[in-house]
Amino acid sequence: SPIFENHFEKMVVEIEGDLKTLADIINETATALDISVYLVGGVVRDLVIGQPCFDIDLVVTEKAEEFAKNLARALRGKIVKKSLFGTFKIEAGDYVFDVAQARWEYYEAPAKLPKVAPGPLRQDLWRRDFTINALALYPENSLIIDLYGGLADIFARKLRVFHVLSFVEDPTRIFRAARYTTRFNLELTGTTIRALELALKLEVLNLLTPARLRNEFLRILEERDPVAPLLFLQKHKVLHQLFSLTLEENEIKSSLYLAEKAGLDIREKLELLALLYAGTPEEFAKLELSPQKFENYQKQLKILAEKRSWFFDSRVSLSEKVFFLEKFPKVILCAAASFLEEDFLLRCFKNYFKVKPGLSGEDLKKLGFKSGPLLGEMLKRLRAAKLDGQIKDGEEEIFLKKELGDGFSS
Ligand code: ATP
Repeated sequence: SPIFENHFEKMVVEIEGDLKTLADIINETATALDISVYLVGGVVRDLVIGQPCFDIDLVVTEKAEEFAKNLARALRGKIVKKSLFGTFKIEAGDYVFDVAQARWEYYEAPAKLPKVAPGPLRQDLWRRDFTINALALYPENSLIIDLYGGLADIFARKLRVFHVLSFVEDPTRIFRAARYTTRFNLELTGTTIRALELALKLEVLNLLTPARLRNEFLRILEERDPVAPLLFLQKHKVLHQLFSLTLEENEIKSSLYLAEKAGLDIREKLELLALLYAGTPEEFAKLELSPQKFENYQKQLKILAEKRSWFFDSRVSLSEKVFFLEKFPKVILCAAASFLEEDFLLRCFKNYFKVKPGLSGEDLKKLGFKSGPLLGEMLKRLRAAKLDGQIKDGEEEIFLKKELGDGFSS
């Protein structure tokens, strides 16, 4: 199909001034070892859809390690990781490659990591999560190997599991389903819905280790729109099996929006989600977070909630509110978005918290102040006056003189 052919040929790397296509390099590396190589999984899906993709999974029929070494050398990249499962991660320029040997997998028990053994491509594709991720592409001629109808499903926008026990076998696939359906606007097929119902009925979600659950939530947070997959998980009663609280769409939206604006990193965003959904320390710990932290956060949230009317009291000065709020971790403030006004918190993050006194401690010393508590107090007074609109830039000295009268520079 010409749709993906063009995209694949656009993927080029520059090596010592020459532009080479990735397809050629990958193919030459395999030919030299007399083995076959395929692109598999998400990269093929993205190529078909026409999305740029820098994470490239490769499957070789033999000699994975040699292939990985040679490919890394050819691309002037390096092998950055070897996994327990015999896969090799290469970083080269903007691209990350995962090289694996075609394999088949079986699961010993639900929610356990799979056991791996070498095997042919057919099984390698069969063990995958959804048909849209079970395409392979042969770089020699850009032929797509579509053994399970993945192409048709991409074009019909269907998310289809391979069998009804798929989510029982690996419940993390439920979170993957949430990401793919919302990212690509897909519909679940009948079997997929039944697979989900079965997994929920058998309550397999709580069999996942905190590390794996955490990882799935992190991947949701990395989505361009993390709210949509979270709503999917709520709608399908997935989160209900893990956490006791449910959120309104607006609550998730404004907390995550604030988190973005406040510059929370992904770990803090995860804490925020856990804080919003968890009703108990044990639930918080399901995302590999400390139960003590939960208790501590809850206390702080309670303090904020009790101050609610104080915040909406116009007789309280802005500086008082800001000084009070900025003592709290950003995570807490984002979690409070639903009961303290989102707009006000947003202005805090973008503006108020950043307001400076206008003069530094050094400046004050030059004016005759001695180091010590008074100096700190003066800086705070200057900052409060700025926040409350009592002084503008450049008026700091005049303000201090007025404030202190004769005490100035004593
Ligand atoms: P994304 O675009 O979200 O990164 P991806 O498709 O590249 O998605 P990866 O997590 O990198 O996803 O996985 C690569 C491939 O491995 C998938 O496309 C899928 O075929 C397969 N895979 C990953 N996780 C599972 C799983 N839990 N069960 C079955 N197959 C999986």
